[in-house]
Amino acid sequence: MRIRVDLHIHSCLSPCADDSMTPWNIVGMAKLKGLDAVAICDHNGTLNIKAAIKAGNEYGVCVVPGIEVTSREDIHLLCYFPTLEAAEKMGEAVEKCQLKIKNKPSVFGNQIIVDEDDEPCGEVERLLLSACDMDINDVADKARTLGGIMVPAHINKGANSLLPTLGLMPQTPEMPTVEVFKMRPHSALGKLCIMSSDAHMLEDILEQGFELECDELSAQGIVNALLRGETERSIL
Ligand SMILES: [Zn+2]
Ligand SMILES: [Zn+2]
Repeated sequence: MRIRVDLHIHSCLSPCADDSMTPWNIVGMAKLKGLDAVAICDHNGTLNIKAAIKAGNEYGVCVVPGIEVTSREDIHLLCYFPTLEAAEKMGEAVEKCQLKIKNKPSVFGNQIIVDEDDEPCGEVERLLLSACDMDINDVADKARTLGGIMVPAHINKGANSLLPTLGLMPQTPEMPTVEVFKMRPHSALGKLCIMSSDAHMLEDILEQGFELECDELSAQGIVNALLRGETERSIL
């Protein structure tokens, strides 16, 4: 089946995202925009996914647990998981090796944690934007070990992106799927190219979304599609 997805959305946990990006607001907006599935991918943190999943169950939108990891090379790497538990384990692994700098909300923005009902219940003290001490291979390995997949984010964008940082597409790790930024997804790279909003504000969430071919509308089904990568069908 082909489903409509936006697999890169920041919640109010990310300092650079608008405070109105609460999980329930995001999922409600996704429903209004006709999306079947979204992924919450905050910078180096997973604390608002639980609320998004509850909202997803209420609104009938599939929520894929995700995270946007900043690697040692300063590259943004999206990771997607079939379960909340796996995503939280990734979040813990990232936290352990992240440079600990205190957030200055007046400079970087708020890092708001909400409870399952969307009520603010705390803030993360360390700056979530800092890089962690894992390279691109470490991040990919860790994600796979937890049953998920690493997808490099906005590979053609300037800062914090794979192609400008490394200057080439590395042989390792294996990357069946990549995310492209504001470019019509195509198969020139021999990989599945997905397009997402990288929304930091509600209005930026994709209208109708990117169409993804998958066997089942579930977090596992979407992770499987990303693991499979380019298919004959998506080349056409
Ligand atoms: Zn990014
Ligand atoms: Zn992002």
